[in-house]
Amino acid sequence: MLTNIFDPLEVWFVVGSQQLYGPDALAQVAQNAATIVDALNESTQLSVKVHYKPIVTTPEKVHNICLAANGEANCVGLICWMHTFSPAKMWITGLKALRKPLLQLHTQFNREIPWSSIDMDFMNLNQTAHGGREFGYLGSRMRLQRKIVVGHWQDADVLTQIGTWMRAAAAWHDAQGARFARFGDNMREVAVTEGDKVSAQLQFGISVSAYGLGDLVGYVEGVTNQAITDLLAIYEEQYTLAPTLQVDGAERAALVEAARIELGIQSFLSDGSFKGFTTNFENLHGLVQLPGIGVQRLMARGYGFGAEGDWKTAALLRAMKVMGAGLEGGSSFMEDYTYHFSSQGNKVLGAHMLEICPSIAAETPNVEVHPLSIGGKADPVRLVFDAQPGPALNATIIDLGGRFRLIVNTVEVVAPEAPLPNLPVARALWQPHPSFNVAVTAWILAGGAHHTGFSLSLNPQYLDDFAEIANIEYVLIDQDTSLRHLKKELHWNDLYYHLAHGLI
Ligand code: MN
Repeated sequence: MLTNIFDPLEVWFVVGSQQLYGPDALAQVAQNAATIVDALNESTQLSVKVHYKPIVTTPEKVHNICLAANGEANCVGLICWMHTFSPAKMWITGLKALRKPLLQLHTQFNREIPWSSIDMDFMNLNQTAHGGREFGYLGSRMRLQRKIVVGHWQDADVLTQIGTWMRAAAAWHDAQGARFARFGDNMREVAVTEGDKVSAQLQFGISVSAYGLGDLVGYVEGVTNQAITDLLAIYEEQYTLAPTLQVDGAERAALVEAARIELGIQSFLSDGSFKGFTTNFENLHGLVQLPGIGVQRLMARGYGFGAEGDWKTAALLRAMKVMGAGLEGGSSFMEDYTYHFSSQGNKVLGAHMLEICPSIAAETPNVEVHPLSIGGKADPVRLVFDAQPGPALNATIIDLGGRFRLIVNTVEVVAPEAPLPNLPVARALWQPHPSFNVAVTAWILAGGAHHTGFSLSLNPQYLDDFAEIANIEYVLIDQDTSLRHLKKELHWNDLYYHLAHGLI
């Protein structure tokens, strides 16, 4: 469902200037801007098309283009560049109205100073150095959420930064009006999976609605035998089935039931245009088994998911899947499950009862059926695999009561030290940065959940940009984290957000 998700989207390239320079200079500005837009569109780093817009030279033109961006459903954000000086008071009305993510590109058309020929015409034309600062001042004065990218427009790092922000802006766009289904409610007595859904809708644009299991069971019962047969063929083609699940195997019926549940959930989500969902093993009335392989495969198709009613993680994972669409690696629902304390380095074994996305698998998953020690239902079918080793991250959004906090921890996924023949679930083994002890202490101090969005495809900058656009607190735990500084950061953030949000 995420294939071609960026195709209809666009980012507008808006160049600020003023009338002072005369038509020749403005024509040159326009030509240079068009050249940059062409170069951006040729870059493989950028997944969203850039649309060149006429230069804005008056407050009215700025206002109009901001209103037009707000009204264009496919516009996910604006890149603003001051080729020349553009007095920033003329941007106030427009930027006050702008409701789309903003990136200030602080670049200059000419890479180098032409030492032997530089004259005042050159100086008048290439004024980003001060024009961009005037624009930047207004952004700070208005406390605008925005991304600032500095460097020559042909530099790989600049293209990477723009590309990352674009994907965050696309995920933000995807979240606006996004619907999430909560089958059952919250796992009883669990705190961190709860939250203020009205605040979440105001902050992120997502809506979360609960459904009784009977609503889902109706869909599951309506699945046709032909659809099940077709899905079983896909299972057989894509995975390695345990002998008992193969045709004529003793537990084949469990696989048939798992396929029925997957198809039922899929129809429910499709009919309701949902982008993610949650389940709860305490609320399974009418379902034969806890959804396992079905949830795993729906995640792989791009749906956000959270277990035990965890709608915040479902929404976060959906955003992460949009940001990572088409990139190497995948993203999954995850849970810090158990620890390995070792002189070779302490590690975390991440897993869940069943629901880990095969997009992070290192090898072809096995399909297995095993008893579930909790839930009191028939043995659920699940995909079992190890995660691909490499750099990864865990992310969580928590509700602190007055605000949301996004916490990210970079980790290194490593191969298991030995086979795990008796562990019947998909898993990932990692070493968190900067060290196990500091990372886990920092995570707990920050209030990070045991559920996360885990990603092999994203680096922290994507989440940073997303948090900036969403205007929420962002706490990064990485190689540079020290507990002494983190404690202060958390205290200062408490004050900042309390003051900045005021009565809101
Ligand atoms: Mn859980």
